[in-house]
Amino acid sequence: MKLYNSLSRKKESLKPLHKSWVGLYTCGPTVYNYAHIGNLRTYIFEDVLEKTLQWNGYNVKRVMNITDVGHLTGDADTGNDKVEERARTEKKTPAQIAAFYTRAFLDDVEKLNIKRPPILAPATKHIKEMQALIKELFKRGYAYETPQAVYFDVTKFKNYGKLSGQSLKAKITAARKEVVEDPLKRNAADFALWFKLAGHFKNHLQSWSSPWGKGFPGWHIECSAISRELLGQPFDIHTGGVDHIGTHHENEIAQSQAAYNKPLAKIWMHGEFLVINKKRMGKSEGNLITLADLEKKGYNPIAYRYLVLNTHYRKKVDFFWGSLEAAEEALKKIYRSITDFALRWQKNKKVEKFKLSKRAEHYRRDFTLALNGDLNTPKALAVLHAVIDAKDVSLPEKMLLVTEFDKVLGLDIGKYRVAPKIPPEVRKLVEARELFRRNKQFARADALRKKITSVGYEVEDTPLGPFIRRRL
Ligand code: AMP
Ligand code: ZN
Repeated sequence: MKLYNSLSRKKESLKPLHKSWVGLYTCGPTVYNYAHIGNLRTYIFEDVLEKTLQWNGYNVKRVMNITDVGHLTGDADTGNDKVEERARTEKKTPAQIAAFYTRAFLDDVEKLNIKRPPILAPATKHIKEMQALIKELFKRGYAYETPQAVYFDVTKFKNYGKLSGQSLKAKITAARKEVVEDPLKRNAADFALWFKLAGHFKNHLQSWSSPWGKGFPGWHIECSAISRELLGQPFDIHTGGVDHIGTHHENEIAQSQAAYNKPLAKIWMHGEFLVINKKRMGKSEGNLITLADLEKKGYNPIAYRYLVLNTHYRKKVDFFWGSLEAAEEALKKIYRSITDFALRWQKNKKVEKFKLSKRAEHYRRDFTLALNGDLNTPKALAVLHAVIDAKDVSLPEKMLLVTEFDKVLGLDIGKYRVAPKIPPEVRKLVEARELFRRNKQFARADALRKKITSVGYEVEDTPLGPFIRRRL
């Protein structure tokens, strides 16, 4: 399997660190709001990554953190804690806000056929591990304290900026443009490891005692601490959206490597943005669309998954409603074909035991090659369509292949694999229509077809006789 590593800027073969499993850490949501479809794009990419690893026979140990404290609205340790700000406006506790939006996130995940990460780690449950890491950073001279916070001194870390390719000087210049609320911060690019209940955060709602006084953790430290705790250090693959490259992941790398003198992760993978009218979908842009918005307009969430898979994860997806419409059409075509296969297959029950032909094996290999070439999902989808349309593979082979492919693609193909139960009254209509048709009474046949459509079914005439299926 080849994966593009943002750190080396090359495609690399995956060589797992452990014999029996691959460690995968995926930065999770900050649970203060509904996820937008841009966020969900990143989670779909990560789902495909996990399932591709499994397709290749790897056992995946996947961890996702849930950020329920410490993620500020401003980039340079400024602004408010996002979860807490929401709690204040909604007059709830931060824990209630986090629980509500975690649930909402998991609902979205389920609707998109994203496998729920088996290990979900809320930041607030790992404060001890974060403090241990900060202590280590003090011991090694990377951390310092002001009356307001504990910071990581980026000038002490030799490789700071390696992931993004930005020099420390450029980073510091960029960071200087931000409003710095703590005058004792040594360098503008230093980042907070721990905020104290002081100054701006005097009345912060969530806090824990620590060697540096009561307070709460910065955002970046949670991922370093949680991944080390649950996957060890280093682990195999770390992922997130491209916006994490410049700050969040750079900081995770700096903390973990500085504290333990070992890399944090071997392969870093980043999903590109979903954009709308050339602008990144994001809260500050005011252009958010949620999965619920798509559903309200009558779209199947899986059509959105299809749309996402149709672009390589390292390319931008330019979202517009027309492309969602097209994705839904493509999906319906797949469902129609699968239902027809199921109907035909029923008529040929004998062919249930079979060995894949060379041709069918070829398609399976093409599918694997597409995924293993840095998750080329558009190509994998093309193989799916090729199998459906193929004249050179048998029906049971098609059924078998598409069912297997769907373990990674997650397009709900299984739901259409079973021939639908057709109510007897619909069957009678179809039979009556068939009689009219044979007697060339086409107007009457057409009238019955309309009737069949109006009760939610459609009928297609094929050499094997009429096929009835539920309307999609
Ligand atoms: P957040 O909840 O803001 O931490 O974001 C959750 C995930 O969504 C992160 O991995 C981000 O990198 C990713 N993300 C944020 N905006 C977009 C976008 N417009 N397109 C794709 N991914 C995004
Ligand atoms: Zn993270």
